[in-house]
Amino acid sequence: MRKTKIVATLGPASSTEEALRNLMLAGVNVFRLNFSHGSHEVHAFTVEIIKKLNVELGLQVAILADLSGPKIRTGMVEGDSLLLNPGDLFILTTRSEVSRGNLISVNYKDFAADVKPGEDILLDDGKILLKAISTNGMDEVAAKVVQGGVLHSRKGINLPRTKLRLPGLSEKDLNDLAFIVTLNVQWIALSFVRSASDIRDLRVKLEELCSSDPPRIVAKIEKPEAVENAAEIIAVADAIMVARGDLGVEIPQEHVPIIQKKLVRMCIAASKPTIVATQMMEGMINSMRPTRAEVSDVANSVLDGADALMLSGETSVGNFPVQTVETMSRIISDVENSDNFYPEIKPDLGTVERKISDSVIMAACNLAREVNARALIAMTHTGYSAFRLAAHRTGAGIYIFSNNRNLLCTLSLVWGVTGIYFEKFATTDTAMIEMRKTLIARGYITTGNYIIYVSSIPIGKPGKTNMLKLSIV
Ligand code: PEP
Repeated sequence: MRKTKIVATLGPASSTEEALRNLMLAGVNVFRLNFSHGSHEVHAFTVEIIKKLNVELGLQVAILADLSGPKIRTGMVEGDSLLLNPGDLFILTTRSEVSRGNLISVNYKDFAADVKPGEDILLDDGKILLKAISTNGMDEVAAKVVQGGVLHSRKGINLPRTKLRLPGLSEKDLNDLAFIVTLNVQWIALSFVRSASDIRDLRVKLEELCSSDPPRIVAKIEKPEAVENAAEIIAVADAIMVARGDLGVEIPQEHVPIIQKKLVRMCIAASKPTIVATQMMEGMINSMRPTRAEVSDVANSVLDGADALMLSGETSVGNFPVQTVETMSRIISDVENSDNFYPEIKPDLGTVERKISDSVIMAACNLAREVNARALIAMTHTGYSAFRLAAHRTGAGIYIFSNNRNLLCTLSLVWGVTGIYFEKFATTDTAMIEMRKTLIARGYITTGNYIIYVSSIPIGKPGKTNMLKLSIV
């Protein structure tokens, strides 16, 4: 059983029923709907098919809706091509004009008020670099080209050193959010998070919009402020994404690998999942085989302890989406089966109220290492024990039993967790017998395996894991 999960971004290469089925059979655990692209109709259709296939194939593939966030873009370019040569002076304007000559239009109204002379302005994923020279504070910034290139219409603008007064949720995000909650997805990602309050605001909005079970929040770390505020952001988010694409534009890209390692460790300490994203197997957009460097990147991200690795262009627009997932899955399994895996990681104990649960789970995980247990087994109402069991990164499979199908899908993002639908919660003793039978029937455990249950006595008290039992099958 592969422990590290795979997130696949959907797009034109992967949105038919056949393509989705093949990706699910190849091992995708979470599908990402990228709200920077695609219409609501297409996203709704895709969600419907995924849900249907989950039932048909007996799977629990989760859905992650990724909001665009406050992305600043250039406007339309006359003839869709504008040459910027090093040393040229350009005026970036917020007036609604077409970019041409030495004029570039920008879609953010406070651009001239926020940008200060000397700050960097990066266009098109950092391919073009300008330095701000002056601003009129209203609608124009004068800037000099440092690194030139050809600008096309509607390209992203990154302003790594600018303090932006943009809200964390744009008008488009709010509109998308109202639609997304109708789809009952398990996870929502917010792009360009700057501080914990961006996540708190999104949570308030979700609670307003959802009568129960709101989707959980993934904070995308892709701005220097988010790296600085990572501890506070992790504390309020449900998971984070190391969004290396924009992060590598907003900060020197040579800093990204160490930041990735630090963020993964911080998340494990907090028992929150991490997704490592972008260009993991970029070469497989056009090639049947990844490069050696891509294989190493995937392997090293697994060794870092990420919960999930994400594919973007590889599965959304690539020529080999299924082969990419199969290849990634093989690389992950190979690393996980090696001697160097399963580092001893100790998540922090949580709050005083959770001290009993956290301590029992820690003891169960220490025991799992001691006896080389095959399975850690738990019942859950909220998923709490699943997140915490996963954070200990033991070699045992984590089998989580619940009668909440939506929660079981949610847990598909979490390291090492297999969710199993279960309703027979009469007493702790009878539930343990039934869970063991289920795991044997599915081939997850067999005679001679050590298995460990964590549960609550009496049964069914949310957040009260107070029992641990070690048995041999
Ligand atoms: C990224 O920047 O790495 C990322 C995952 O975000 P997006 O694909 O939305 O640009």
